[in-house]
Amino acid sequence: MTTTISPLIAGNWKMNVMRGALEELAALAGMLTSGEAPRAIVVICPPATILSEVAHQGATSGIQAGGQDCHTQAQGAHTGDISAGMLADAGAQYVIVGHSERRADHGETDAQVCAKAEAAIGAGLKPIICVGETEAQRDSGEAEAIVAAQLATSIPDAANQHEVIVAYEPIWAIGTGRTPTILEIARMHDSIREQLNARFAEKGPTIRILYGGSLKPQNAREILAVENVNGGLVGGASLLAKDFYTIISAV
Ligand code: PEP
Repeated sequence: MTTTISPLIAGNWKMNVMRGALEELAALAGMLTSGEAPRAIVVICPPATILSEVAHQGATSGIQAGGQDCHTQAQGAHTGDISAGMLADAGAQYVIVGHSERRADHGETDAQVCAKAEAAIGAGLKPIICVGETEAQRDSGEAEAIVAAQLATSIPDAANQHEVIVAYEPIWAIGTGRTPTILEIARMHDSIREQLNARFAEKGPTIRILYGGSLKPQNAREILAVENVNGGLVGGASLLAKDFYTIISAV
């Protein structure tokens, strides 16, 4: 039996925007509501400073909001951090965990990423769990093994009962304009699907696997058509409504 998964396109605005980006959100909302309804679930993960506005402003056009990270704990003495419950309270429905920039900048381990995903689930959020290899690891033929190890330890067992999303993001493709070949993307996504099926039985075929890394209007159609690519996580090209809308429309 083939499982149909509704695709999801998430924009990661990173630490790149201020309140002025709400104008881009309004422009995107206008595009999404003026024509045919989008075939994808649309999510924007803005900086936490404007999360609440994005959640409330986006709701009228079906745009959902997500955080870019959360703490493992529900509350406590963790100055500067933000809990999954706080993101949910601000209107988020998703949260990115384990983005390679957080793994690199903050030394986050797979175990911490797993704990963050558990915290997200506990707060009623859907974690978008990021995995991906470095360029050296791909060049040495280790990409699939590295990603397999990340998946095994970053996805909590709770994924059996709750919705989680996997984002495959080759680190060397993020923000570089370079992407793996279509065959490389297909192989990696098939390999991730096999692992999800083996670990989560009936739930495995229903888990979305997003591709991320220099997804652009120019390559979106081809990449998003690959089997087991169930949407995308988009950085740079999500900052301009026109570009992001073109990617959403490519689904
Ligand atoms: C990302 O950082 O998640 C990402 C995919 O960035 P970009 O699209 O800019 O490569």
